[in-house]
Amino acid sequence: MQRPYNFSAGPATIAPEVLQQAASEMLDWHGSGMGVMEMSHRGKEFISIYDQAQADLRELLAVPKHFHILFMQGGGLAENAIVPLNLCRGGTVDFVLTGSWSQKSCKEARKYASVNIAASDEPNGFTRLPAPGSWKLRRDASYVHICSNETIHGVEFQELPDLPGLGSDAPLVIDFSSQVASRAVDWSRVGLAFGGAQKNIGPAGLTLVIVREDLLGHALPACPSAFDYRTVADNQSMFNTPPTYAIYMAGLIFQWLKRLGGIPAIEARNIAKAELLYGCIDESQFYVNRVARDCRSRMNVPFFLRDESRNEAFLAGAKAAGLLQLKGHKSVGGMRASLYNAMPIEGVKALVAYMREFERSHA
Ligand SMILES: *Cc1c(COP(=O)(O)O)cnc(C)c1O
Repeated sequence: MQRPYNFSAGPATIAPEVLQQAASEMLDWHGSGMGVMEMSHRGKEFISIYDQAQADLRELLAVPKHFHILFMQGGGLAENAIVPLNLCRGGTVDFVLTGSWSQKSCKEARKYASVNIAASDEPNGFTRLPAPGSWKLRRDASYVHICSNETIHGVEFQELPDLPGLGSDAPLVIDFSSQVASRAVDWSRVGLAFGGAQKNIGPAGLTLVIVREDLLGHALPACPSAFDYRTVADNQSMFNTPPTYAIYMAGLIFQWLKRLGGIPAIEARNIAKAELLYGCIDESQFYVNRVARDCRSRMNVPFFLRDESRNEAFLAGAKAAGLLQLKGHKSVGGMRASLYNAMPIEGVKALVAYMREFERSHA
């Protein structure tokens, strides 16, 4: 059976072979007589699942030894509070505003830290990234926060900023929720990366935090123990019960990524998918994407019909053609196609064919 192609921004499509494997292991994982959801998180079966997922992710993303990989809960939004609780040390933090997600992070951080807006693209409607050379970074900042891929506005850093080169020795914090595992990460430029799993690495419920060793152990006294990175790291993410099934699913997805050829292979696929869709939009008089070309996201492609009265017909036709969840975020409008790792190029070809046909019959 050919499933419809699902362009949801998150929770998002998962490779059918991964879902099938999970289904086949649902009642009995590897002859243990238990499903993964029913296992003690401290038993040898689950520990082996956990260790494998940790090792595979470390290998895939080439995470250096002096970084901890934490499997937490609470999603990206909880990290908006947990990061300042752990890293602000009562000082000032720098934010670069490039869309809804960095704005949300900034708003939450104000509860715990004094915030400096180093740069903002709000005057341009979040359609480009402020040039790092123009950022007004503070010398005494505890960290600098960016969202490396803005899921709603569709802008993505193609390269992470070199903070020392910009005169800042603060660690860089990236929210890579909607970008994780879609491309390589330059860890030499990162202090902490966090992301919810539900875009690229599995079901909602698991939150990934990858944090440099020297940033642990500085939590404010008010930080909940379950959210103190030092405590989480010292307990191998098992200070409390971790999201066991979501960790298992993420582990299956890491294995799937490794079978495909790892990050270089998936990144090449992601580039090809994005070029196909942006190419279709750019060559048409019917559709438009308003993001500056060098800032466009490979993962989330917001676009508009120039004649917005056709939106409902476009979406209904797409659904009938097996192309699901293309409606844009309510704050931006129009359409959005999310092209996460698990979206095959065939799905993008089908979308482009539908868009051309819709244009031909409605232009
Ligand atoms: C989806 C998303 C989040 C939200 O995470 P929750 O799991 O809903 O808390 C945060 N940041 C970015 C960039 C996202 O795409």
